[in-house]
Amino acid sequence: MWHLGRSMTRGVGCLGGACGTCTITTRFPDQMIPKTALACQTMVSEGMNITFLSSDPSKKTISPLPTESPSRETLFQYYPETRRCVSCQACSTACPQGIDVMVAVREAIVGDLSAVAERFTSCVMCGLCAAVCETKIRPHRMGLYARRLTGAFYPKEASDLVNRIEEIHSGRFDPEWARVMQPDDETAVKT
Ligand code: SF4
Ligand code: SF4
Repeated sequence: MWHLGRSMTRGVGCLGGACGTCTITTRFPDQMIPKTALACQTMVSEGMNITFLSSDPSKKTISPLPTESPSRETLFQYYPETRRCVSCQACSTACPQGIDVMVAVREAIVGDLSAVAERFTSCVMCGLCAAVCETKIRPHRMGLYARRLTGAFYPKEASDLVNRIEEIHSGRFDPEWARVMQPDDETAVKT
């Protein structure tokens, strides 16, 4: 659209596939069902019809962390509609990140919060899964809450980070650090 000279300021975000703002549908003349996508991650081609969608219309729920270990009832307290899933798979088909959203919703229904959290790791909160859900479920918002619950109550040790800190303390990177901190003739600031 910019290439055509259109001034677009809405529905445009990071241009890198990370913010989930530029939701679109694409359709070719011989295609029955439009495909959902992120515009910045879609290559335009001849004959493609593109429709920009409004930003995520799903209601945001204020969902504080509980004081005790969470269960599926904790999720349902704020996202009760999750139980209405009819396993139609529309959300999984719509997801531009390739997340099997329907499976995540089923995992939430049986109370496997860690599995839900893991599945939504690459979610960019575009809201397409909620937009296509006939039963008005908000999978991405429920998934984000599951991630918060899991992070707060079942944190995993970041073993890579622990190892790297030990390497730093052992002096492994001291020569490189000294080299970086030594300005050469070109970069030295002359005072
Ligand atoms: S679109 Fe809605 S009803 Fe269908 S599988 Fe996804 S969450 Fe369930
Ligand atoms: S899970 Fe939903 S909100 Fe997240 S990237 Fe997929 S479609 Fe977008």
